[in-house]
Amino acid sequence: MPEVLIKGAHGGKIDVKKGQLVEVIAVKGQQVCDFFAFNSDNIRETLSPAHTRSVLRRVTMKIGDQFYTNLRRPMLEFIADTTDGTHDFCMPPCDPERYFLSFGLRNHRSCRTNLAEAMHGFNIPYEYLPDPFNFFQPTPINADGSVGFNTTSTVKAGQKVVLKALMNVIAAVSSCPQDINPLNNYRPSDLKLIARDA
Ligand SMILES: [Zn+2]
Repeated sequence: MPEVLIKGAHGGKIDVKKGQLVEVIAVKGQQVCDFFAFNSDNIRETLSPAHTRSVLRRVTMKIGDQFYTNLRRPMLEFIADTTDGTHDFCMPPCDPERYFLSFGLRNHRSCRTNLAEAMHGFNIPYEYLPDPFNFFQPTPINADGSVGFNTTSTVKAGQKVVLKALMNVIAAVSSCPQDINPLNNYRPSDLKLIARDA
């Protein structure tokens, strides 16, 4: 059963065959997981939060939902969730510009550069890296349209989400390196990916 340990503030990936499940586990908890997925047979087809919002007609996810690609095809099905259901698919990944513009920091690790590292060798231009599903991320859309922030991820040690692959995919994740605001309780920690038969 292939599994990959993602070190805190770093990225990694795992291959998932059509019909298999991928589990995303918060090892220590209080840790956001930026989750990306690519069609193994056409790397330009990617999991798309925007198309998924369009299909679902909402910004929350429920068990049984199918998550769509930028070619508007179902790629993953949301099978199980042992968390309190706090997830986001509206926000982009953190990136070097975010750390410089908001915090004046250069060379801080980021989810977008973690994805670039994980997908090194696939020749994906930086500007074309896709947006994430942010599992375990507390950025709710409020009734007045504002976006909540500045709270800590509520995921607990060992909690997980499980997705079923509806095509052959490469699942790539970043353990969000944000350690300046409370998002990851100031200490980014490990995630685990497991690919297994359904
Ligand atoms: Zn991040």
